[in-house]
Amino acid sequence: MLLERLERIVGPDHVLTGERVSSRAVGWADHGPCRARAIVRPGTTDEVSRVLAACNAAGQPLVTMGGLTGLVRGSVADADEIGLSLERMHRIEAVDVVGRTMTVEAGVPLQRVQEEAEKHGLLYPVDFGARGSAHIGGSVATNAGGNGVIRYGMTRESVLGLEAVLADGTVVPAMNRMLKNNAAYDVKQLFIGTEGTLGVVTRLVLRLREMPRSTQTALVACGGFGAVTQFLKHVDGALGGALSAFELMWNAFYRLVTTPPAKGSPPLSQEHDYYVLVESQGGDPGRDQAQFEDAIAAALEAGLVSDAVVAGSEAQRESLWALRDDVETFFRLGMPVVFDVSLPIAEMEEYVGEVVARLEREWPAYRRFVFGHLGDGNLHVIATGPPSVEARRGIERCVYEPLAARQGSVSAEHGIGLEKLPWLAQCRSPAELALMRRLKQTLDPKGILNPGRVLAG
Ligand code: ZN
Repeated sequence: MLLERLERIVGPDHVLTGERVSSRAVGWADHGPCRARAIVRPGTTDEVSRVLAACNAAGQPLVTMGGLTGLVRGSVADADEIGLSLERMHRIEAVDVVGRTMTVEAGVPLQRVQEEAEKHGLLYPVDFGARGSAHIGGSVATNAGGNGVIRYGMTRESVLGLEAVLADGTVVPAMNRMLKNNAAYDVKQLFIGTEGTLGVVTRLVLRLREMPRSTQTALVACGGFGAVTQFLKHVDGALGGALSAFELMWNAFYRLVTTPPAKGSPPLSQEHDYYVLVESQGGDPGRDQAQFEDAIAAALEAGLVSDAVVAGSEAQRESLWALRDDVETFFRLGMPVVFDVSLPIAEMEEYVGEVVARLEREWPAYRRFVFGHLGDGNLHVIATGPPSVEARRGIERCVYEPLAARQGSVSAEHGIGLEKLPWLAQCRSPAELALMRRLKQTLDPKGILNPGRVLAG
């Protein structure tokens, strides 16, 4: 009955059932076929609104689906849930070159946003590996991070306005296009990073920046964690705001991605404790390169850095980034368990020491690797080995428990979804959690939007 009503709203071709659902993959974080009761594909905000109103009246739970590249199983629908896919809403509506904004529908892939900005000499600065599939709407709903955060901030910083639909079908247009707007509450924030639990994001006004005219990249080696943090302060200061990436790799990570069968070869010897991929972007190619090389040379002279290689071409730059992005090599070692924790930079060395020692002791059959976006206080820990639910839960305890004393977070950038639910209370206060529940109760009293995700019951 409900499905027939939904067919009348979006057209019979856009309510998928049976084979048309099970032939679809669940997403990156899970395997096997999609189990949703049906997948509904509205083509307009008005259709989204009517679909939600109908489902809300029927008490039918929905799971919003974007590009399905999330890592916390937030968009994996169960057999009693309907998938709400925004894949037909993929129009780029407008680019305002003077105001530096782009207006889009939520189902546009991230990479198309980046390419459209580039056509106008502009930059959409949020970037991460899943750019080809990830929908812009999903990246906003999850407040995605990535590699440019040290310079441009998380996705939140690149959203000026949005339109969202509440559980009962109410459309909330908040399509602000200005950088400044302090007229009372900034309601768009309710829908950024809340993983679709308070509303469905349907359209967006994105903030664009001027496209940098130069990029400088280097890989440097450091002899101790103190040298790494001093180098971060040194290079950020010396570059006057141009620093755009500061990616740290621990020795074990670097060795793995520069030793066969990995594709990469070591640009610097494998004997150092830490390696940093550092990048800056500016507006004057000749001057920027000289300034960048001077900053690296001064760090070598001061002993902050033990060795360095500066990319001399785009091909060299890409080969340096390929080391940092070599996900394949980890999959070769068995199903990798990937963590995205955050904590104060000053406490990272001790934290990693504690986690690695505990993993060695409790899960010796699993190899562990650490890297991260140091400037953002964000570390990725990867454990590889035989897939096992018990091992996974045990490894989670080793990684998450030592965060508690350091006021760290169990999710720097991937979100909570279903995956991290049991750990949320460790990094948010009881009052914060109570306020989250009040918001959820107010905006979605029947609990139909992504139920059971982010906030338990
Ligand atoms: Zn990351």
